[in-house]
Amino acid sequence: METPTSRLDAVHAEIAKACKASRRKPSDISLIAVSKTHPAQKIAPLLEAGHRVFGENRVQEAQGKWPELRERFPDIELHGIGQLQSNKADDAVALFDCIHALDRLSLVKALARAMDKANKRVPCFVQVNIGSEEQKGGCAIDALPELLSKARAADIPIAGLMCLPPAGIEPAPFFALLARLAQDHDLKGAEAGLSMGMSGDYPTAVMLGASHIRVGTALFGERG
Ligand SMILES: *Cc1c(COP(=O)(O)O)cnc(C)c1O
Repeated sequence: METPTSRLDAVHAEIAKACKASRRKPSDISLIAVSKTHPAQKIAPLLEAGHRVFGENRVQEAQGKWPELRERFPDIELHGIGQLQSNKADDAVALFDCIHALDRLSLVKALARAMDKANKRVPCFVQVNIGSEEQKGGCAIDALPELLSKARAADIPIAGLMCLPPAGIEPAPFFALLARLAQDHDLKGAEAGLSMGMSGDYPTAVMLGASHIRVGTALFGERG
């Protein structure tokens, strides 16, 4: 029978396979277990198996689940992966160790103010609207230089670029484009992360240079 821990082993095996094929090291890839909608008792087995990196897309839901889990497992690393409203910036800075949704100038302002207030710098991925989709979050590709420079000026640590490719079509070209944008904008060292790949396409993302993959369904099963 499939359990969260057997699924975790299976995902690690897929990551290892993709790493081998692309001559990368599994230790260079951070597996973010996306636990949104799943209750604490479903998350606990992964924590007990030693997994520590998790992702949530809603501030309020995360506030309800994680403080208690953090008391039991203080070395948890929690990533905020969902679109963020500016009025949630204080809560997001308090709760998350990394934010993957920096996508507009107003949010740069709100997050910088929240980080100043909390005296805490939270690394942020700049989310790029990689398929130039009208309804999608993420900054336009052309807006990336200004967003990066404003974030740097506001002393927001940049973790790299993040994307959610258009649904229903081959994601590889979009992953490759995100990687090229990071190069074109001279992101290096701690700024050179690439947050890309979900349950359906994370091996491809690993092969194209992902540093962070965000995997929910493949670990926890379908969301209810
Ligand atoms: C839900 C979510 C994921 C995980 O999706 P799965 O297909 O369940 O792996 C990844 N990234 C973001 C931004 C999400 O909202």
